Amino acid sequence: MTATLIKGTEIREKILEEITAEVADIKEKHGKVPGLVTILVGENPASISYVTLKIKTAHRVGFKEIQDNQSPDIAESDLLALIEKYNNDESINGILVQLPLPKHIDEKKILNAIDPDKDVDGFHPVNVGRLMIGGNEVKFPPCTPAGIQEMIVRAGVETKGAEVVVVGRSNIVGKPIANMMLQKGPGANATVTVVHTGTKDLAAHCKRADILIVAAGVPGLVKPEWIKPGSCVIDVGVNRVGEKISEKTGKKIAILRGDVDFDAAIEIAGFITPVPGGVGPMTITMLMQNTLKSLKYKLGI
Ligand code: NAD
Repeated sequence: MTATLIKGTEIREKILEEITAEVADIKEKHGKVPGLVTILVGENPASISYVTLKIKTAHRVGFKEIQDNQSPDIAESDLLALIEKYNNDESINGILVQLPLPKHIDEKKILNAIDPDKDVDGFHPVNVGRLMIGGNEVKFPPCTPAGIQEMIVRAGVETKGAEVVVVGRSNIVGKPIANMMLQKGPGANATVTVVHTGTKDLAAHCKRADILIVAAGVPGLVKPEWIKPGSCVIDVGVNRVGEKISEKTGKKIAILRGDVDFDAAIEIAGFITPVPGGVGPMTITMLMQNTLKSLKYKLGI
């Protein structure tokens, strides 16, 4: 049996259409659109390409978008003042500081200066705490885990009572998705195990998983024999394993592989996400979702 592919590219299109329609509706009824500011410090090429994509997507769904590019020499105090300015700007619902920041700036201090009610990345300790409490307390689930949960739900995979195994315990993927899947409520209510570099028998845990979420950053870490037949496999890993010439543009592009041996796994799993085109496209989509939510919280709708 070949697994059903959960395509992030298709789910993204659907969600962005839903967001666009909702933004138009709110604009008509309340005269407001979500406002997102992206702050980019310096000229890191990867950061520029991420920010460009975020801006393009924000425009597509009808948001007000401010791109605030700052010199790499900006003083930490000036960056803090800039964040304070946007914290106080009524037209801004989401503040995003593109990481990494130059070495002379304390990233933690900057992220913690963002108003938690405009922290659409969901990295502020207040939002991490809200996520841990769960239920109505949650305002902005971090974007990659939110995308993972959305994919599982939209694929129609049962989560209630499922054995979920998460490989990886990072603050941006492993820990938050584990926390989200164990909450009581729809799209969760699972029994969750988190495995990591300190785990004795990785294979034994993975083999039990009805839903296996892998975010380790190790190409091909999960072997086909670790996958339970018929299970749902979410491969978050994005690993550059070489380069090739793009057929579309003729330019050099990276060859990307996930953390799962995809070609073998697709013959065993019931559902699987590809790399690329799986979890990747969901992250920016959920950033848009969080920014829209932020305006809705403010309007009380
Ligand atoms: P990280 O390096 O911060 O964390 C990796 C985790 O995996 C660690 O907790 C570590 O304990 C665990 N791990 C590593 N090697 C292991 C091994 N051999 N056995 C067991 N556990 C192991 O990484 P991250 O930021 O969580 O990202 C993980 C992967 O997901 C990366 O490939 C990253 O590029 C990708 N990623 C993709 C998206 C996206 O598609 N939108 C977003 C974030 C991260």
